[in-house]
Amino acid sequence: MALTLFNTLTRKKERFEPLKKRSVGLYTCGPTVYHYVHLGNLRSFIFEDVLKRVLLFNDFKVKHVMNITDVGHLSGDNDFGEDKMLKGAKREKKTVWEVAEYYTDSFKKDITALNIISPNIWCKATDHIPEQIAMIQQLEKKGLAYTAGGNVYFDTSKVKGYGALARLKLDAVGKERVKKDKNKKNQHDFALWFTKSKFSDQSMKWESPFGTGYPGWHLECSAMASKYLGKQFDIHCGGQDLAKVHHVNEIAQSEGAYGKKPWVKYWLHNEFLVMSKGEKMSKSSGEFLTLKILEEKGFAPLDYRYFCLGTVYRNPLMFSMKAMKSAQTSRKKLFAKVLELQKSEQGKDSKTARKKWTSRFTADINDDMNTPKALATMWEMLKSDLLDHDKYFLLLEFDRVFGFNLGSVTEEKVPANVKKLAKEREEARSAKNWKKSDSLRDEINALGWDINDGKEGYELKKK
Ligand code: AMP
Ligand code: ZN
Repeated sequence: MALTLFNTLTRKKERFEPLKKRSVGLYTCGPTVYHYVHLGNLRSFIFEDVLKRVLLFNDFKVKHVMNITDVGHLSGDNDFGEDKMLKGAKREKKTVWEVAEYYTDSFKKDITALNIISPNIWCKATDHIPEQIAMIQQLEKKGLAYTAGGNVYFDTSKVKGYGALARLKLDAVGKERVKKDKNKKNQHDFALWFTKSKFSDQSMKWESPFGTGYPGWHLECSAMASKYLGKQFDIHCGGQDLAKVHHVNEIAQSEGAYGKKPWVKYWLHNEFLVMSKGEKMSKSSGEFLTLKILEEKGFAPLDYRYFCLGTVYRNPLMFSMKAMKSAQTSRKKLFAKVLELQKSEQGKDSKTARKKWTSRFTADINDDMNTPKALATMWEMLKSDLLDHDKYFLLLEFDRVFGFNLGSVTEEKVPANVKKLAKEREEARSAKNWKKSDSLRDEINALGWDINDGKEGYELKKK
């Protein structure tokens, strides 16, 4: 069953055919490490992880590269606004380097907790300054760059079809950019290298043939993707906001420097995680939710993964605690089912039935990664009259894409302190001391456990 993916470049679902037979080059834009990644960012990384897993499920080999943006990203995409790293450093009274290291570590912890498979190559923008300088020189040689006011800019007027990815109407938008930066010849031109630092306290600076300075944000992805994946590769991803400016400019630079078209064959973008009024969750608004906050509210990281998988990646996803609770209930139900099936007797494998359910599941995920449909197929399979050991086999098979790590689900051992509190609570209940028993329940809950009273005594369950 062929894999089809929605390509932003053509605005169509297309059959996926990599440039090389079975190997896929995948580049995903990573976080700007000036703050914690929020749940919106994590939606993007979960979508990319599912894409990678779908490719692996379809027997492709995947070389995945993800960057860490630690320099050059300004708060306005169009070369204006504050430097994000500097903003983080000021907020925390640390150096930009310390801020970058701290938030990179925090990001990596989050993706591990979400069972996101690590990329084959991590690359930091600040580790690739020579590659970015070489790319500017290449663009200068081809007459695609110019110097004005001390900075180096990309000349978008020299590129036929500039902005095609975003269907930019070249006369209608971007006027603001010229207004903000008088050095630009054309409204869409963008900085490749800043020499006249906009920020007197800019501490990330490098020597270059164009003067001491630092690279424009878009350059890093072009230089690093091409270094690790070649001058043409298969898939490039990010959130839909990146399609409008960042990716448009990456294409212009890379096709300009390398002369290969298209630089990337398939562009995939996820829609936003939005708040109750439909507004995008963003770091710049200052109000955002992190995985840690969810954990403090009693959710497991994989509850959030389940929540994301419940909506197709190309639809906006509205965040609410109610919807998170419902995802948590389903995730717990799934884990409980796994534990039940693990105890099942072995029997003769039903090859025909396994094949039938695997084909249905493959059809779901190969249809531009329809994860909600695939989850529905999974639940239907679990309710069917299949034998338990076939169900367990299929669950593990489907989990190669879902990524809940179902093969490692184990009954949670109750810690001694929780057992002790539960016993004390039982004694308080026998003595009809309800106040004490309630406060002991609160203590048990705070330790991440639920206690339920039944006919045969109490039962402790991990939240
Ligand atoms: P940033 O750290 O801002 O560079 O963003 C990292 C990734 O998260 C990019 O692919 C963004 O497009 C994506 N992103 C940012 N905000 C959201 C959101 N609210 N929902 C989904 N993806 C987002
Ligand atoms: Zn990028």
